[in-house]
Amino acid sequence: MADNKVQETDVLQTRIAELEKANTEIRKENRAIRRKYETAQMFLERSNAYNAFKDKLLATVMAEKERQDKYFNLLLEYTQEILLLLDHNLRFVYCSRVFLGQTGITDFAAINGREFHDVFRQAAGEGAADYLLNILSAALRNNRANTVNRIIDIGTKGGPRHYTIYVSPMLDGNGVSEGALVLFQDMTEILNAKEQAEAANRAKSSFLARMSHEIRTPMNAIVGMTELALREAGGMPMLEYLANIRQAGSNLLSIINDILDLSKIESGNFYLSSAAYSLASLLNNVINVMRVRFAERSLLFLVEVDAAIPNNLTGDEARIRQILFNITSNAAKYTEKGFVKLSIQGTRLGGNSLLLTFTVADSGIGIREEDLGSLFGDFVRLDLDHNKGIEGTGLGLVITKRLCQEMGGDIRVSSVYGEGSAFTAEIVQSFSGETPLAVVEHPQTKRALLYDNRRLYSDSVFETLSNLKVPVVRTSDAETFIAEFSGGNFAFAFTSPNILEQVVASMKQPCSRTNLVLLADLGEMSSFRDIPVIAMPAYAVSVANVLNGVSLSKPERKNHVRFTAPAARVLVVDDIITNLKVSQGLLMPFKMRVDICDTGAKAVALTKTNRYDIILMDHMMPGMDGIETTASIRALEGDYFKQVPIIALTANAVSGMREMFLENGFSDYLAKPVELTRLNEVMERWIPKSKRQERKPDPQAGPFSRPGP
Ligand code: ADP
Repeated sequence: MADNKVQETDVLQTRIAELEKANTEIRKENRAIRRKYETAQMFLERSNAYNAFKDKLLATVMAEKERQDKYFNLLLEYTQEILLLLDHNLRFVYCSRVFLGQTGITDFAAINGREFHDVFRQAAGEGAADYLLNILSAALRNNRANTVNRIIDIGTKGGPRHYTIYVSPMLDGNGVSEGALVLFQDMTEILNAKEQAEAANRAKSSFLARMSHEIRTPMNAIVGMTELALREAGGMPMLEYLANIRQAGSNLLSIINDILDLSKIESGNFYLSSAAYSLASLLNNVINVMRVRFAERSLLFLVEVDAAIPNNLTGDEARIRQILFNITSNAAKYTEKGFVKLSIQGTRLGGNSLLLTFTVADSGIGIREEDLGSLFGDFVRLDLDHNKGIEGTGLGLVITKRLCQEMGGDIRVSSVYGEGSAFTAEIVQSFSGETPLAVVEHPQTKRALLYDNRRLYSDSVFETLSNLKVPVVRTSDAETFIAEFSGGNFAFAFTSPNILEQVVASMKQPCSRTNLVLLADLGEMSSFRDIPVIAMPAYAVSVANVLNGVSLSKPERKNHVRFTAPAARVLVVDDIITNLKVSQGLLMPFKMRVDICDTGAKAVALTKTNRYDIILMDHMMPGMDGIETTASIRALEGDYFKQVPIIALTANAVSGMREMFLENGFSDYLAKPVELTRLNEVMERWIPKSKRQERKPDPQAGPFSRPGP
């Protein structure tokens, strides 16, 4: 019994131990399950958060897409252009509202999915539909956008419009066509505005040409009549009044010319002419005119030209003169006292190209450093406080710059305010032949003695003589000069007027074989009757002429004509009687027989019955104008009618005119108001030599030798 009990207890204890073990296992398993549960729970939570995030993101994307769709639809709705979207079968997918409005289609549903050609045939007609379909098909075929311009009448309202039509295939990410886009940009208003602007510009140009004619014609009468009146006027104050009128007249003309030039440059209608010219005569011309302007001022005008520059050049002579006049006149205007010096250099560029460099340096008011940049702008006038009373429009330099640039060069300036300025203009010209601007024959045999009390003149003449390879001795005082002069060791002796009397007195002794030459300013010239004179500024050409015994280089006097031709006959044609009188007056010194008439028809009749040596023909005339009259004369049977020189008279002095006249049968042209120098040139060129009588030497110019003892 007791054993049984013990046995039972053992069993029980074993059972308890087993149960405890099992319990421990279960707890362990429980813990593992809990851990797994917790892990699962964590994953579940994360997954929920992710899903929530995903939903939110989707909602945002959807909202953004909706927003984009909304704006895209608004764009299609409100764009003023016709925009069409087509699928790859060219059926309508979408269109902008303008298209619906214009074609009168009330709802897009009515055309949604319909063929482009079909819809367009109804909206714009068979022709337009075929045309556009061709372009669209080509764009799709070639996978390339295309732009065309065409006038199409879309819809029933508004009529035909000018469209720029842009067609483009729409490709997906892989480059496969999804369809096409067609954009019609209405250019009608822009093109109309452009047309109007062009018409206005044409009107402006023709207005300027007319204005030029209208203003220059009466100006011709004013300046020409004043010229005649000046010849007749007896004395002061009438001479002074008339000189003032003439001056104001030519100022006004130069302003008109500047404005015309600028508008021509701006409208792109500016052309340079190209003709052979002589640099020497161009310079003579500029210096003769400028020297008159300097004569009224207490300013020395100096010219230094490299004598070796080729003389025979090709280019637009008148425009080069304009450049030189502009910068030299400016220097004269803005310089109170001291000097203005024009220097000219030539640099060969290879072939027959020549770089001409004109430098005009002055000792004037100068230009502030901060103003240098704006100097070449339109209507720019600087330092107005300083420049009160100096006339100008501020157009000279801008035109000069453009002229230089047109001729392959430019203009630059350096200046010290209060001390002076130097403008350097460069242009490229072509030259023919090697004839230099000036050359002295056997220079070594022409030793020169020089004295000038005006230091700058002395320097300049010394430079010029040296440049001409003439041996020169310069003396700094009158006594040495007279002593050397009397020694007779020089071929030439150049002196200023201040010691002339002493020099002439010394010549009473029969010794000197030296040719005395006076270096005189314009105002001093008439007082020395028998001594050869070089008008200052002396420069290579005038000095070489004297050394070669060619001429005295006397400046052309105002009313001086180079020859008379009593046997020659001239016809002047102009519808304005005053102009005819002016021409008659200007031609009078040539002593030719002058006929006048006031219509083209009369001119043709007169030309048939008379043999003229030259015809001066006005351009603008009522009825038959100058061009028609010239054409009628040229069309007549016979050599005379083909060859008689017909010179156009034009107030319409716009560039390119010369070529126009030459193309229309004219031989040459003269700008009104006619300048005597130009008239001389034209007459010299066209009046046959056989009919010319050279003018007798001016009684004021002595023979080219020293006066006898
Ligand atoms: P303007 O008709 O006024 O002379 P420009 O175009 O020829 O017109 O010159 C523009 C401005 O440049 C002038 O108003 C003047 O202020 C300045 N200028 C030109 N040349 C000189 C010079 N040699 N010295 C000083 N200032 C000058």
